[in-house]
This record gives sequence, structure tokens and C-alpha cells, in this order.
Amino acid sequence: MKIRSDLKKDVITSNKKTYRNFPMVPRVVFGQGSFSQLEEILLPKRKNSDAPFIFLVDDFFENKEFVSKIPLMFNDEIIFVSAEEEPKTAQVDALVALIKDRFDESPSGIIGIGGGTLLDLAKAVSILLNNNGMAKDYQGWDLVSRPSVYHVGIPTISGTGAEVSRTTVLLGPEKKLGINSDYTTYDQVVLDPDLTITVPKEQWFFTGMDCFIHCVESLTGSYLNAFSQSYGEKAMELCKEVFLEDIPASESRDKLMMASWHGGMSIAYSQVGIAHAMSYGLSYLLGTKHGIGNCLVFQHLEEFYPEGVELFQKMQEKHNIQLPQGICSHLTQNDFDIMVNVSLGMEPLWENALGEGWKKIMTPERLQSLYQKI
Ligand code: NAD
Ligand code: ZN
Repeated sequence: MKIRSDLKKDVITSNKKTYRNFPMVPRVVFGQGSFSQLEEILLPKRKNSDAPFIFLVDDFFENKEFVSKIPLMFNDEIIFVSAEEEPKTAQVDALVALIKDRFDESPSGIIGIGGGTLLDLAKAVSILLNNNGMAKDYQGWDLVSRPSVYHVGIPTISGTGAEVSRTTVLLGPEKKLGINSDYTTYDQVVLDPDLTITVPKEQWFFTGMDCFIHCVESLTGSYLNAFSQSYGEKAMELCKEVFLEDIPASESRDKLMMASWHGGMSIAYSQVGIAHAMSYGLSYLLGTKHGIGNCLVFQHLEEFYPEGVELFQKMQEKHNIQLPQGICSHLTQNDFDIMVNVSLGMEPLWENALGEGWKKIMTPERLQSLYQKI
């Protein structure tokens, strides 16, 4: 296994290799309707009646029947958050300030309910409640010194793997980068596939393809190892069933939720690749969201991922998904320079995809010509 330069704990001292000691979600519930167990899960975690649970909930659910199922007690509070834009460091700081301002006691816990956007926000808020400074100060690797507030992740759309990962991807004033730390990982996850019933078809496809692309990039990467492979292969098998076969809808929701989990586990111990590196550039410059951004890029990567792109096209055709065109047609040279720089800055992703000599293979000119196809 190669050493990832982004993982400070992977080091070689003289002849001895040190492997990462990877945190996992210690508790997980899976099953249709399992959300109803949240009350009993939270009860023993309540510090006292003044220390609330704060539910950060995707505002899609505002005024929906689902809200009445959220188990509120004492001064617990629901804060609805829009997932229209990807999470920002300033948004995390504002939420933390609001919670500190409103409650004298530190919360008993933070519960994130939504897609990758809400899951990432809840992770970041739980870190910043227990660590001084601003969210941007912690973007990077292992900069968090104190454990976060107890936090629970409840995905309502499947694919990102944010429910298992040790990162929370945030757009800061200077960079789009995760808070990668052992304290980021959720203390508890509730996987209830019924919560994904209302996801619109296109969004289902885009976020599902995030998972599929995680698998392709992990399984074809130079960082691949048996740990990642074992999860990546299972996630890939599930993605093929969900997106290429005709299985009942409820089975499909179950399987995509588990594909997301396994895909996340796969990249946790390896890395993603070219589609993600390029998608970061798109997102930084144009605000393109992660799922659709990955799809926009991936469709043009047949020279790097021939089998993956062929499968992707089959899935796209089967579900009649149209991708927008001409996204980069109006961009200036300065815009391309920004995207290319952001993208090439994701060094471990390129090294995973193309090996140690990646800089000779992916020149700025070649990368720009790939962007120009989008
Ligand atoms: P999302 O959270 O951005 O939500 C996409 C859309 O789906 C939103 O409009 C949201 O309101 C809607 N939605 C969510 N659940 C719904 C439901 N049950 N019914 C109807 N609508 C619903 O989507 P995503 O693709 O899951 O997340 C993308 C984010 O995840 C990005 O910010 C990305 O950076 C992040 N991400 C994080 C990790 C990680 O490991 N931390 C990994 C990949 C992606
Ligand atoms: Zn992704």
C-alpha cells in the first residue's frame, strides 16, 4: 500500500511502516422505520433537562409530517437548514454562535438529518461547540484537539458516505477543504431507508452516482488495498443492482443506503480520484454541487476509467437522466486557471488515480481541455 501524503499518520520511520488507526462509527441502527427508535437512543445521552438536543434538519422537511416524529423533550430545538448550497465555514460559525447564545448549557447532542450537506454541517457544529476559534481554523488534517459534542447522523438521501467518513467538507474563505479528524466521525448513525422515499429522481441519481464514482475511483486507484477493496467491491455490486436492474423500490432504497456506507468505508482507507479532483474545481468556481459536478466530469473520463464510464452511460440511459451542457463554455482563461489550480492542488487524489508520476500525465493544459468539454 502506498503512503498518502494527506494522511499525516501514515509515516515511514526508518524501515517501519505505520498504518492509520481509523475511527469508525461505534453505533449504527439499520432498517425501514428505524428512525422511530431515536427517542430511546437519545435518552441515556441526555446530560440534564437544560442541556438540549439540537436537531439540524434539511429544510425540505419543514412543515412535513416527518417533523412530528422528531422526539423533542424539554428545551430541545429543531433548526431547519437549506441544502441549496454546499456548507460553508461561516455558516458553521453562525450556527455555533446561535446555539451558544440561546442556551446556557452546552447541548447534550447535535443530530444532523438530511443529505451530505446537513450531515457535514452537523459534524462541524459538534466540533466547533467544543473547540475554540472558527471553523476555517480546522480545515485540514488533525487540527481538532478536543472531542466534539455527541453527534448523530441520519441520512435522508443515499450516496455521499458522509455518514461514515471522518471528514466534513466545507467551503471556507480561502479553500474548499474538509475538517479531517478523529472527532469528526459520528457517535451514532441511524440508517432508515424510508427517509429517502421522497428524494426526487434526478437528485437520487446524482447523489447515487457519487457513491458509484467513489467505488470506481477507489477500486482503480493506486492506493487500493484489501480493506478498501472489500468495501468498494460490495458497494459497486449494490450500485449495479440499484441502477441497472429492476428491483423493487424498497429493496433498492435499502441497497443504496448500504452502498453509500460501503463506498464511504472504501474511500476512507484509500482515496478518490480524477472526477472528485475536477469536481472540486467546478464547485469552487461555479458552486456546482458535488453529485452533479461529479457526473458532469465523469462522463468525459473514458480514457482514465473506460469500464466505469461505460457503466455510467448505461445507468444514465436507463434512468433517462439529462446532464446540463456548456457549463464551461462561457469561462475566461482566468476562470480556467482558478479551476485547474484548485483541482491540481488535490495531490493525493491525482496520485491515487495516476500514480506517482501524475504531474507528467495531467498537465494544466490537459486538465483545461477536459474542463472545456463540460
Ligand atoms: P444534499 O444534502 O446537498 O441535498 C441535495 C438535495 O436533496 C437538497 O435539495 C435537499 O433538500 C434534498 N433532499 C435531501 N433529502 C431529501 C429527501 N429525503 N427528500 C427530498 N429531498 C431531499 O445532497 P448530497 O448529495 O447528499 O450531499 C452533497 C454534499 O455532501 C456536498 O456538500 C458534499 O461536499 C458533501 N459530501 C461529503 C462527504 C463526506 O465524506 N463528508 C462525501 C461526499 C460528499
Ligand atoms: Zn464524493
